[in-house]
Amino acid sequence: MSNLEQTLSIIKPDAVERNLINEIKKIFTSNKLAIKETKKIHITKDEAAEFYKVHQSKPFYNDLCGYLSSGPIVVMILEGEDAVIKNRKIMGSTDPKDAEENTIRKLYGISIDKNSVHGSDSVENAKKEINFFFKNGQ
Ligand code: UDP
Ligand code: MG
Repeated sequence: MSNLEQTLSIIKPDAVERNLINEIKKIFTSNKLAIKETKKIHITKDEAAEFYKVHQSKPFYNDLCGYLSSGPIVVMILEGEDAVIKNRKIMGSTDPKDAEENTIRKLYGISIDKNSVHGSDSVENAKKEINFFFKNGQ
């Protein structure tokens, strides 16, 4: 049975700054995740706070929101078979130190905060996150 899904991916400021956009996009497409939408944006700290609201009680919340709004990011809708879990596998563990070989975070992540990419963690959150950035299909 096929299970076509969409998920939200973000290339975070540390990776945009190091010109890794094309390398990271190539990893998705070569793993059969099609990039249906992509845009480069620079969000405000308030927008980052809204996006990461689920983490509002965490000690790292303020720094995380400051970081995501510190420079341009690339937000993408990825589509493919089991896209949510597949993207999480391609990304690797949150802390690049623990990430598996050949994952994006192992290849490019600098630290637990500057870990190069975000990916939705469930189908439900993917829908919310896609809607957050691509409300009018933009
Ligand atoms: N994060 C951090 N310190 C921590 C845990 C997480 O700075 O101790 C950051 C990290 O950049 C991570 C983001 O907060 O990507 C969201 O955390 P989550 O646990 O959702 O990790 P993810 O889903 O991104 O792997
Ligand atoms: Mg998460």
